[in-house]
This record gives sequence, structure tokens and C-alpha cells, in this order.
Amino acid sequence: MTASKTVQEKARPMIRTCSIWRALEVVGDTPTLLILEAIWLGQRRFDRIRQNSGLQKALISNRLKRLTESGILTKEAYTISPPRYNYVLTDKGLALYWTSLMLLRWERRWASQENSLMPLLRHSGCGKITSPEPMCPHCKEIVRPQDVTWEQGPGVGWMAPIYSRRRQRRDADGKSLDKPAIFTEAAELMGDRWAGLILRSVFTHLRKFDEILKDTAIASNILSDRLNWLVETGILEPRKYQDHPERFEYFLTEKGLDYYPVLVMLQKWGDAYYASPEGAPVLLRHKNCGKHLDAYVGCSECKEPVYPQDVTYELVPKKQVDQKRV
Ligand SMILES: [Zn+2]
Ligand SMILES: [Zn+2]
Repeated sequence: MTASKTVQEKARPMIRTCSIWRALEVVGDTPTLLILEAIWLGQRRFDRIRQNSGLQKALISNRLKRLTESGILTKEAYTISPPRYNYVLTDKGLALYWTSLMLLRWERRWASQENSLMPLLRHSGCGKITSPEPMCPHCKEIVRPQDVTWEQGPGVGWMAPIYSRRRQRRDADGKSLDKPAIFTEAAELMGDRWAGLILRSVFTHLRKFDEILKDTAIASNILSDRLNWLVETGILEPRKYQDHPERFEYFLTEKGLDYYPVLVMLQKWGDAYYASPEGAPVLLRHKNCGKHLDAYVGCSECKEPVYPQDVTYELVPKKQVDQKRV
């Protein structure tokens, strides 16, 4: 991992385990997300993935290797000499579909780039244009962050996180894109594991700098940097609670709250593939019906679960998707 070069070697502070974090260790990386985006768009070959993602060859090779090692992709040879491969999602990779749909949902609702292309999705189950939403399997209502409580599960524990110091951006290697770029802000946000940990803290109502510092074990200068970035991008809003010295609490904006479905689906994927032997570290409960929450992504029109094989899409200008939004 490139992260290992910038590991905080000395202190190794411990933080709460959580499936979101474990999932982010695998997919919380901007180049990885851009490669997955290309694969969701139907690209399977190295050169097509390169064209779609705009990333450098060496970076793509490295990330394809990691994705294959972690069981998300599998290589299928389509010529023997020279050896050339298709990269295909495994079941574990396909299980990231709901996370990807929730990233897409957030990007569509909040990304500032008006000119970008977006997939217009059609659910073959009901035949309608669909805007998939996170839903409760018991009451079939759309899951909103204010309706969910959490409690410790059997797999709760402590771990030492490993961070990459640098925030990676789509254009990190100076390449501009002439291909459809769908996850722009979403790939940047989910690609930054520190931001992910900060959001985890804030979603669990830790709002003060020192509280977040303790919960995330991030070096204080980097925590300041990331908090400022999350404020600049309109995800957090600082509110002053003390004048001398000046101190702020950080609250989620509407845009920040709306990222919650991504975390719920990431947690579900992490629980499925990276939980402790004892079980999930965190359990969710849906206040509306009082039941244990194991959310699914459902069709906005028929509320049935949405699976990759049930969805067709066409790429259209973002404005057009906004108009067809239900
Ligand atoms: Zn419910
Ligand atoms: Zn439907």
C-alpha cells in the first residue's frame, strides 16, 4: 500500500473498530473509486479503464492488483500471448453496487459540476426510471439519518488505523479528462479516509475539535486541515461556542447529512466481508418501526431491491437527470 510509506509509525493510537473504516481501508481511495466507476460503466480492459479514469498506467496497475488481491475483481485472460485480461467484478465486488448507487445519488444531488454526464437508471423490475433510495426492509420507508440510532454490537473492539497523509484528487497526476466523469466530489470525499473517520465521529454526535481528535486519533494539524476542507466543500458547518479562545463545534449541513446512505451501505458491505468473528461492531435501529435496521437500496418507484442485473442506464447530461427526478 502506498499508505504504508506515510504511516504514523510511532504512536499508533487506537480507535473504535467499525465496518465503515474496514471498508474504507479497501475502497476509500480516489484512484480505486475511479477504476470501479469505469468498470461499472462497462469497461473491462486496461486501456479502456485508463481512458475512462484518466489515471496513469502505473497507478492503474497498482490498484487493479490490489482490487484483485482483495477479491473485488478477478482477471480473465482474453488472449494468451501476450497475456491480456478482462477485469471482472466478483460477488464481493458486485456487493459494492449499493454503495456505488448511493455515491451516485449523492453526487447527482450535490455535485457542483452542472455539465457532467450522469446515468439515467431504469429498473427492469417495474420498467420505470428510478432514483434508488436507502430503505428499511421492515417498514419500507426511506432511511434518514435522524431516524436511526446505533448501539454497540458483539464485534466491538479497538484498532490502530493507518492513514495516507495526502488527499488525492481525480486530477492528482495532472491529467484532465475528456471522458465521462461521474463520481467527482463523491470519489474525492470517499477517497479520503480521514474525512470518512471525521464524518463517522460527527454522525455519532461528536462535534468539538477535541472530541473528534480523541475519537479519530488524527494528528491535530491534519484534523484542522480536513475540517477546513469539509467546511469549504459545504459538508460541515462550524458554529462558535466560545470566544476566548475561539472554539467551534461542527455540524453536518444538509449536504453532509445526505451522505449518510453511503456510510450505511459501506457499513453493510464491511459487515458482510470484514466483521470480527464475534459479529458486527455496530448495530443500527430504525426508530420509525423500532426494528433492527439492515437497510437495502430500493427502487424509488416500486420499492423492490435494486440489483445490478435489474438496471439499465444511459448517460445523459446531468440537467436531464435532474428534470426526470422523482
Ligand atoms: Zn423501519
Ligand atoms: Zn422499480
